[in-house]
Amino acid sequence: MAETKQLAKIPLRGTLREQVDMRKHTSWRAGGVAERMYQPADLDDLLGFLRSVPVEEPLYVVGLGSNLLVRDGGLRGTVLLLHSALSELRLEIDGSVYVEAGVPGAKLARFAAKHDLNGGAFFAGIPGTLGGMLAMNAGCYGSETWERVLRVMTVNRQGEVHVRTSDDYEIGYRRVVLRADCEEWFIAAWLTFAKGNSGAARQEIKELLSRRIASQPLNLPNAGSVFRNPPGEHAARLIEQCGLKGKRIGGAQVSEKHANFIVNTGNASAEDIEQLISEVQATVLQKTRIKLHPEVQIIGEKIR
Ligand SMILES: Cc1cc2nc3c(=O)[nH]c(=O)nc-3n(C[C@H](O)[C@H](O)[C@H](O)COP(=O)(O)OP(=O)(O)OC[C@H]3O[C@@H](n4cnc5c(N)ncnc54)[C@H](O)[C@@H]3O)c2cc1C
Repeated sequence: MAETKQLAKIPLRGTLREQVDMRKHTSWRAGGVAERMYQPADLDDLLGFLRSVPVEEPLYVVGLGSNLLVRDGGLRGTVLLLHSALSELRLEIDGSVYVEAGVPGAKLARFAAKHDLNGGAFFAGIPGTLGGMLAMNAGCYGSETWERVLRVMTVNRQGEVHVRTSDDYEIGYRRVVLRADCEEWFIAAWLTFAKGNSGAARQEIKELLSRRIASQPLNLPNAGSVFRNPPGEHAARLIEQCGLKGKRIGGAQVSEKHANFIVNTGNASAEDIEQLISEVQATVLQKTRIKLHPEVQIIGEKIR
């Protein structure tokens, strides 16, 4: 706590750690070290932190790190870890669901099902937080996060809070851009669901999870689909067609089970993964003339 006070200059209730191994905070289990990591105690504590942190401190918001590659040279500045910090989830009087940014998709899906709400099952298969799902417009099986959004609550680095609607953003396939030219992070959202039936919603979650187990290499660390699907195409099909299934660089391998997944076979560095991403991109471009764009977010510095 003494260190927290030093960085933020006011008493805070969260946890500040130094030299944090980001392999423990990313689903690829690869990559470098963050100079600092702050896990706020709750929303008020996060706002206090932002209002007092020096302006020159670089900040990165991380949820469950399930779409994230941190390069081996690590991150300068502070990672704000929202998972399990912003964790409130409640039913509002108007029937909407208030969800804070650190709530995992599986918990949100189960909450909706328990309250007889339909349309939330797809969240169960996405191993990220609501914040990450809003940032990525995460989706699957024909549903997307922003289809459920009534309003979002955001914060900027000065700790100022805004309530916004989808009109404030350009929203597309795995793409969300705030129209205003400023940096903000998601801290909560109000989501809407149709009235349904708890049993049917639970059954839908079960079926959806079985489909994932059957088609994804969930036994090895990965970050889900590495590339966005090009219009009218499937990245996995193109990668497979180019004979890249099973291709390895160091400990990184294009999955034999799902060609758009890169798995960490045990000791992959972030560099192995990034090189394999580039190699897949180059081969697919050369053989099909289609450029694949990564969906995964790559941050931090390379080892010099
Ligand atoms: C096995 C597996 C299956 C997957 N399946 C799917 C799928 O079906 N569909 C899909 O869309 N994705 C899928 N993903 C990818 C990933 O789970 C999603 O992109 C998810 O939304 C990322 O959430 P996160 O909390 O882990 O975000 P992180 O990986 O921590 O962060 C991802 C990006 O979001 C930003 N971010 C995180 N929190 C916030 C916040 N509060 N405010 C602003 N920005 C924020 C980060 O800065 C970063 O740029 C899968 C991943 C895995 C490992």
